[in-house]
Formats: sequence, structure tokens, C-alpha cells
Amino acid sequence: MDIWMEENHTDGYRVNWKISELLWREQTPFQELMIVDMFDFGKALILDGAVQTTEQDEFIYHEMISHVALNAHPDPAQVLIIGGGDGGTLREVLKHPGVVRADMVEIDQRVVETCKRFLPGIASGFGDPRAQLYFEDGARFVKKTQGQYDVVIVDSSDPTGPAVELYGPEFYRDCFGILKDDGIMVAHAESPTFFTAYFKAVWRNMEVFPRRNVYLTTVPTYVSGFWAFAIGSKKHDPSKARDDKHAVDGLKCYTRDVHGASFVLPPFIQKIIDQV
Ligand code: SAM
Repeated sequence: MDIWMEENHTDGYRVNWKISELLWREQTPFQELMIVDMFDFGKALILDGAVQTTEQDEFIYHEMISHVALNAHPDPAQVLIIGGGDGGTLREVLKHPGVVRADMVEIDQRVVETCKRFLPGIASGFGDPRAQLYFEDGARFVKKTQGQYDVVIVDSSDPTGPAVELYGPEFYRDCFGILKDDGIMVAHAESPTFFTAYFKAVWRNMEVFPRRNVYLTTVPTYVSGFWAFAIGSKKHDPSKARDDKHAVDGLKCYTRDVHGASFVLPPFIQKIIDQV
């Protein structure tokens, strides 16, 4: 018998995934967590019914959320990741030789523990001595931390449940406050094509930065085509990969050329931004 998992997006848009096996399911204090073996995409993390990451295409999202900011900054030594419980962003951040410390703040310890067990290829960076994990709300962490960071990466889930505050202006102001004078913040900004409300909200929140840009990629298991990241910078131009100093070998999606190209926006997306 075939098993199909349904992911609902709107009343008129849902996606069905064929599942080979349900490997894990639990209700954590924050969300429903599942690990499934997908027919086409390998093992996947599902939170509250939404696909978070799959073995087949995770590299696209994780490379693009990490390496753009890390290559736009001349010396990204201190990095903060908010969310990111599957570990993919941490894995990519730790590939940069200049990174001295990577703090990661994930609200749900069960996500990290379960991904270490079922998705070890993604959750591979947690044992690195440069990685420091905090299990708490990212919005509260950025309000109270004394840390000063070169790069802040917001790798949160969709704006429901525990992630709601991570889409608000106060969180962005707090992130601005914990960045050094030439710091850079990047946040996943959802879909810029059809479900634009959250995309617009993230873009608006970035106005606290003197420079802000949107860049794009596509992730097959994230719905509706283009996937957006909003990037804010206190000083450096985020659209420029600065030099080869931090070049990381063996990436499958990110290159210096892809970095520049990802900032080229189709007119209809530029128009959405201009109208916010
Ligand atoms: N890239 C994925 C996507 O967009 O589908 C998201 C990756 S990661 C799994 C998202 C993580 O953010 C989850 O593990 C979730 O527990 C965490 N998260 C949600 N709200 C949070 C909060 N307020 N503070 C810290 N982490 C949070």
C-alpha cells in the first residue's frame, strides 16, 4: 500500500509526497516532529506537517543561506545561527576556515537529537569544538546576549508556532544590536512568488539596516518556485563575494558567480519589493 503525506499551504494549494517509510513521529513541547523516508527525496525532517529539509536537496538551501553572508563579510569569525535544528546551516558555517565560533540557538532540543540520529549527514557539525548550542527561544536570546557577532543567520521554520516572533520587527532590531559595526544578517524570507505576505514582512523588517537586498535560489521541496533570502548589512555590499580568502572547496550549489547572480531579481519580484 502506498503512503502519501499531504502538505497544506492554502485552501487551494496542497502538495502530496509519496513516503516509503515513517521512521519517527513525536509531539515535542513545541511541534509535531516526523522523520520520513521519501520516495524521491531521501530522508526528510517534517515539522507540523511542513517539509523542512530532505537529503536530496538540502545542500541548495544550506549552502545559499550560509555562504553568501560569510563570503560577503571580510572576516566572519563570530557567527550566530537562530533555529537550524537539523544542523545543515551549522555544517556549512563550520566549513569556513575563518569561523572561530558558531553559536546556534534552537528552541527544540528534540529536533537536534532526532536529526543527529536519522540525518547524520546533515547534523554533522554539532561535535565541532567551535560550535556552541543553546536550547532556548531565539527571540529571547538575541534580546539578552552580550555576544557581538559578525554574521547572524536566521534559519527558522515557517512563521507559525514557535517561529512567529522570528518574523517580527523587534527581533530584527535586536539582531541589528548584537552585530558588530560591519555585521551582516541573513534570514530566509519564504516564497516571493505567490505567498508573498511573509516575504514582504521579512523585507520590511530588514529596513533597520542601511543596506538590504534580496537574493534567490530554488529548492525543489520548498513550494512555489523561487525561494528568497533577505540580507541586511551595516557596511559591506552583500551582493559582492569579497575575495577568495574564505573559498570553500566541494560545494555543490554556491560559487562566487552564483553569489552575484542570485542578487539579480526578475522585474516582478523587484516590483513587490519596491511596493513594500
Ligand atoms: N530550512 C527550514 C525551512 O525553512 O523549512 C527550516 C530549518 S530548521 C529545521 C528550523 C528550526 O527553527 C526548527 O528546528 C525549529 O524548532 C526552530 N525554531 C522555530 N522557532 C524558533 C525560535 N523561536 N527560536 C529558536 N528556534 C526556533
